[in-house]
Amino acid sequence: MSRVYAKGSLCARLTASARPRAAIAPSWLARPRSAFSTTATRPLMELTGFTEEQLTVRDAISAICAKFPNTYWQERDQLEKDPKEFHAALAKDGWLGIALPEELGGAGLGISEATMMMQTISQSGAGMAGAQAIHANVYATQPLAKFGTKDQLEGTIPKIIDGTWRTCFGVTEPNTGLETLKLKTLAKKSADQSSYSITGQKIWITCAEVASKMILLARTTPIEEVKKSTQGLSIFCIDLDRSQPGLDMRKIKKMGGRAVAANEVFFDNYQIPADTRIGEEGEGFRIILHGMNAERCLLAGEALGLGYAALERAASYASERVVFGRPIGQNQGIAHPLADAYMRLEAAKLATYHAARLYDATKTDDSIPLHSVGVACNSAKYLAAEAAFTACERAVLSHGGMGYAMEYDVERYLRECLVPRIAPVSREMILNYVSEKVLQLPRSY
Ligand SMILES: Cc1cc2nc3c(=O)[nH]c(=O)nc-3n(C[C@H](O)[C@H](O)[C@H](O)COP(=O)(O)OP(=O)(O)OC[C@H]3O[C@@H](n4cnc5c(N)ncnc54)[C@H](O)[C@@H]3O)c2cc1C
Repeated sequence: MSRVYAKGSLCARLTASARPRAAIAPSWLARPRSAFSTTATRPLMELTGFTEEQLTVRDAISAICAKFPNTYWQERDQLEKDPKEFHAALAKDGWLGIALPEELGGAGLGISEATMMMQTISQSGAGMAGAQAIHANVYATQPLAKFGTKDQLEGTIPKIIDGTWRTCFGVTEPNTGLETLKLKTLAKKSADQSSYSITGQKIWITCAEVASKMILLARTTPIEEVKKSTQGLSIFCIDLDRSQPGLDMRKIKKMGGRAVAANEVFFDNYQIPADTRIGEEGEGFRIILHGMNAERCLLAGEALGLGYAALERAASYASERVVFGRPIGQNQGIAHPLADAYMRLEAAKLATYHAARLYDATKTDDSIPLHSVGVACNSAKYLAAEAAFTACERAVLSHGGMGYAMEYDVERYLRECLVPRIAPVSREMILNYVSEKVLQLPRSY
C-alpha cells in the first residue's frame, strides 16, 4: 500500500530518502559484540502484514537508533544521565510529531505508525529508557492537538516537535494511585478569572525535571461539590518554570530506566495563566480519556520491542555458548522456553497492531464502538507486557551468570520490562476492566 503525502511533509521526505530499505543498516548490525559473542544478534520479528508506512518508519527509526549503541544506554543507565542527544536526534528529523497534524509540522500519521516507532526504539537496545525519553511528547500532546485552541496549538506544538520544549504527563498522585478520579491536586481560579493557583502533589512523573511543559490533570471543582467523580477535573498545558515560587521537584531512585528521571512534583500556590487550560473547565477527564487508549498502544509497542530485543540476545547466546560439548540452545530446556516466548510475542504483536488499527480507524469510521477500542487497547497492553516479561526473564536465565552482567544488556531489559506491567495502568486493573466490561461480572472495586 502506498500513499501520496503532502509536499515537504515528514512522510514525503521519508519515502523519498529512506528507500531502498536495503540501504539502511539494521540497528542490530551496528551493535557492538559482547565479549563471548562471535556473531551479531538476529532480528526475529515477523514483518509480514505491516503496511508500507510502518516499515518506512521502522527503517528510518532504526537508522537513527543505530547511532546510539548499547554502550550508550548502559552508560546512561549507570550514570542516571538523561539521553538528551537521543531526544534531539529524533526531534531533528521531525519524529516527535509523528502523530501530530501536518499543518503544525507533524507527520499526520496514526497511532499504528507511532506504535511502530516506539517499538523500534525499545527494540534497538534503547529499551524503556529510550522510549520514555520520547513517548510523552507523542501521546500527552494528543489531547492538546484535538482540544486545544489555535493559539495553544501554534504556540506549543511546533516547539515540542522541534525539541525546544520537552513534555511530561502529570496524572498520578501519591495518595490516590490508580483511583485517578479521586486526585486531589487543586487548580483554583483567581477572582478576576485570569489565572489558576495550583496546589497538590504528583508522583512518578517521567522526565519532569528536564521538561518545560506538563500536561496536568487537576481538580477545578472539589469532589464533594460534583455529582459524579468524572466531573470537575480540568486539563492544562503548563510551563514548569523553576524560577517561579510554588514549584519543587524530587528525583525518585528507581529500579530500571535510570537514564530517564522520574520525579515527585510539588505545587504550592503555583500560578498559571487561565489560558493554559485545554478545553472546557470540568471536562478534563473526558479530554484525557482521548489520549489513554493511544498511550496503551504505544506502551504495548515498547514492551514488544524490549521482548524481541531480549529474545534476540538469548537466541544468539544460546547458539554460541558451548557447555557439555554442545551449544546450550541444543538443550530443549533452553530452546523450548525461548520458542514459547517468541510465540507469545508474536501473538501480542498481532493484538497490539490490531488495537492501534482500530484506534486509528475510529477517526473516519463512526461504526466502531469505543468499547471495542478500549478492550482491544487494554488487552494489547496487558498481553505485550506479559510477553515481554516472559521473554526478558528467560533471556536472563538463558545467559546463566552472564545474564546478570551489565555488558550483556538482558539484566537491564529485565529491570525495565516491569514498567509496562505497572504503568500507565496495572495488569490487575486491566483484568478488572475486562472482567467487568467484557465478561459482565460484578465490578470488584
Ligand atoms: C517508571 C514509571 C513511570 C511512570 N510515569 C508516569 C508519568 O509520566 N505520569 C504519571 O502520571 N504517572 C506515571 N507513573 C505512575 C503509574 O501510572 C502508576 O504507578 C500506576 O498507575 C500504578 O499506580 P500506583 O503506583 O499508585 O499503584 P496503586 O494504585 O497504589 O496500586 C498498587 C497495586 O495494587 C493493585 N490494585 C489497586 N487497586 C486494585 C483493585 N481494585 N483490584 C486489584 N488490584 C488493585 C494495583 O494493580 C497495583 O498492583 C509511572 C510509574 C512508573 C513506575
